[in-house]
Formats: sequence, structure tokens, C-alpha cells
Amino acid sequence: MNIQKSNNVVTTFVLNEIKTANRALLKSQKPSTSGVVFLVGAGPGDPDLLTVKALRLIQKCDVIIFDNLVSQQIRQLFPAQAEILYVGKAKNNHSISQSDINQLLINKAQQGLSVCRLKGGDAFVFGRGSEEMLALKAHNIKAEIVPGITAAAGCGSYAGIPLTHRGLSQGCTFVTAHAEKTLDIKWQALAKLDHTLVFYMGLSKAELIETQLIKAGLDKNTPVALIENGCCPQQRVNTGQLNQLSSLVQTQQIKSPALIMIGKVVSLAEQLQWFNEKPSIDSAINELTQLSA
Ligand code: SAH
Repeated sequence: MNIQKSNNVVTTFVLNEIKTANRALLKSQKPSTSGVVFLVGAGPGDPDLLTVKALRLIQKCDVIIFDNLVSQQIRQLFPAQAEILYVGKAKNNHSISQSDINQLLINKAQQGLSVCRLKGGDAFVFGRGSEEMLALKAHNIKAEIVPGITAAAGCGSYAGIPLTHRGLSQGCTFVTAHAEKTLDIKWQALAKLDHTLVFYMGLSKAELIETQLIKAGLDKNTPVALIENGCCPQQRVNTGQLNQLSSLVQTQQIKSPALIMIGKVVSLAEQLQWFNEKPSIDSAINELTQLSA
């Protein structure tokens, strides 16, 4: 190892030691009752869609405990001085159980730390945020919710698909296609609603969704959209009709995370498309600054 390299190793080691010592000091200065957990929605991926409150908490909390849906760009905002813990649960690969996550949150708060529990989208929409809050409340731990933009709202907007549109859809229904035990979806009711239907975690159930909705009476020509990696630079949007849903998943090789939107509003996607032409927020701000100068 040359001197430069060994200096770098020593510097990294010393920095890590300082971080650990700082955290220990922080802990010892805080009374055990002052811990708090913020259940924070990180939105669907674009860091510019974080709320101001979410960003402030990411920057200030002692500990950040985050899920796999928190995008890489948002992870890059994590400050060096925070303790960062990944507890992501990819499908069929539950790295850490929900009860262990609950316990981790309780332990960190009981050590007097401020915890930013960061989740994709909104913590209260298919995010188990309410389960975590119940566990925290049961241990008398202070917990607060910071809403985030849920995938349906974010992906819909970034794909040019409104959730409602006068004359096309008077309502919108969010459905999860994932169940711990058996899936119990009221297909007849969904088919009758005449709402925009948004399926979360529906990719592996695309065939079931297609056949059950058609069987329940929904027109097989109803427009559908598959939005993969919505609100991220690699976003892909595929549209078709309900009777093509499962074949679209196959032929376009759609990967998770993906959202399924079904309803007449999808027919607006082409006209309302803007994402591929959008100016970056930085250049838009630069232009505005020049205009006002
Ligand atoms: N709490 C989250 C949802 C968690 S469930 C929220 O409010 O958005 C996870 C599912 O959300 C994924 O399987 C996918 O269907 C959807 N999802 C989340 N982020 C997404 C994204 N950026 N693009 C497409 N779908 C997404």
C-alpha cells in the first residue's frame, strides 16, 4: 500500500471513530424519554418531491431507518453524521421482519434518539406506517407522521394520467394486489364503480386482475397503463387495453416497482405527456433568476 492510500485508510478509520463517539455522546446527553420517531413518506422517487419537512428530518435526525423503495437519489441526501440503517423488504426476501423493525424503532427512541423512519410514497398508504405507529404508541413513544406523495399521485402526474377528470372519472380507488394470506378483492364492486383503479403491488397478479375485472363486467377495451419506476429518471410508461394487461407485462418485461392504472383517464396520457420534455428544475430556476435580474 502506498503512503497516500494508507493515509486515506487511516483518515476513514479516524472519521468513523469520531462519528461513533459523537453518537455515543449525543445519546448520553439525551434523557431516555426524549426519543421520537418520525414516520416519513419519501414520495415516489424524485428527490424534488420530498416535502420540506421530510428533507429537514433527513438532515437533522440521529438515525435514518429506510426501506428499499427509497430511491438512490434520495439516499444520496443522507448526511454523513447520521446512523443509517437499511431494513428493506424486497418481495420474497424479507431481510428483517416487521416485528423486528418495530422493535428497532422502539429501541432507538428509548435510547433518546430522534429517528427518521423513511418509507417510499406515503407511510399510511400500503406502507405499514400505521402498524409501526401502533407499536410505538403501545410503548409510549412519541411518534409523528410526515405525509409523502403516494405512488398513484406521483406516477399518475409524471405519466400525464390524472386520477380524476371531469366526464371521465369521478373517483379513484387504490387497491393492493398483495396479501399476507389470501387475496380478497371485491372484483364485482370494483368493476361497477366506474372509478380510476390503481393497483399497487400488482405486477405478479396482472393476469388475475385482467381476467377477474373482465369477468366482473369491466369492458375489455378499458385503457390501462403500467408505470415502472415512476418519477425516476428511468421511468417507463406502457399503455394498452385491459385485455392486454398481462401480455404487456410479459412483452415489455415490466419490473418492480410498477403501478397499474385502469380507467378512461389513461386515454389522456399521450396528450398530457410532459415528463420526457420537462426542463430540469435547476435550468427552470436559472431561467427565472435571469428573467428577474
Ligand atoms: N407507501 C407506498 C406504497 C408501498 S407498496 C406509496 O404510498 O406509494 C409498493 C408498491 O407501490 C409497488 O409495488 C408499486 O406498485 C408502487 N410504487 C411505489 N413507488 C413506485 C414507483 N416509483 N413507480 C411505480 N410504482 C411504485
